[in-house]
Amino acid sequence: QWFDIFPFAEEIAEEMQLMTKQKQLIVYEHKGTTGQVFLDQNLLKNCIINLISNAIKYSGEDTMIQFNSIVNEHELIIDVKDNGIGIPSTEMNNLFEPFFRAHNTGDIPGTGLGLNIVKRYVGLMNGTCTCESEQNIGTTFRLQFKF
Ligand code: ATP
Ligand code: MG
Repeated sequence: QWFDIFPFAEEIAEEMQLMTKQKQLIVYEHKGTTGQVFLDQNLLKNCIINLISNAIKYSGEDTMIQFNSIVNEHELIIDVKDNGIGIPSTEMNNLFEPFFRAHNTGDIPGTGLGLNIVKRYVGLMNGTCTCESEQNIGTTFRLQFKF
């Protein structure tokens, strides 16, 4: 269905800010002259929550998480950028495999299923999910959809 990404994403950002227990600051910004997109709201919300949950879990206190939506002609881009532990470059290829957990996660708990679910939901929406990361610097996940 058609909806405006701005209030939708802003509400998610507020919900997730409550979940951080003030450990990080979540900053949401929208770019684009319109916010109207045609996508499955539930699938999209689930993907964004997964990515922001990871950003919260894998970054330290007093860091910032940047959450951006960009709407160009018939295209939506969602970026979630953190300044966290990053992902070792040798392990980037396995990121979306079920039960994958990178070796630098230490004692941070997790099942390794979140990103596999994101990949499948993004696939259902005919979108793409890409990641850029540098260990000990941070990670950016990008979702891209045509509608
Ligand atoms: P859960 O199933 O609870 O989400 P998880 O967070 O371990 O567990 P995924 O979300 O699938 O599983 O992420 C897989 C792995 O990718 C993580 O264990 C972590 O090693 C790495 N990872 C994902 N997102 C980030 C991030 N933002 N920063 C650093 N590492 C990340
Ligand atoms: Mg996760």
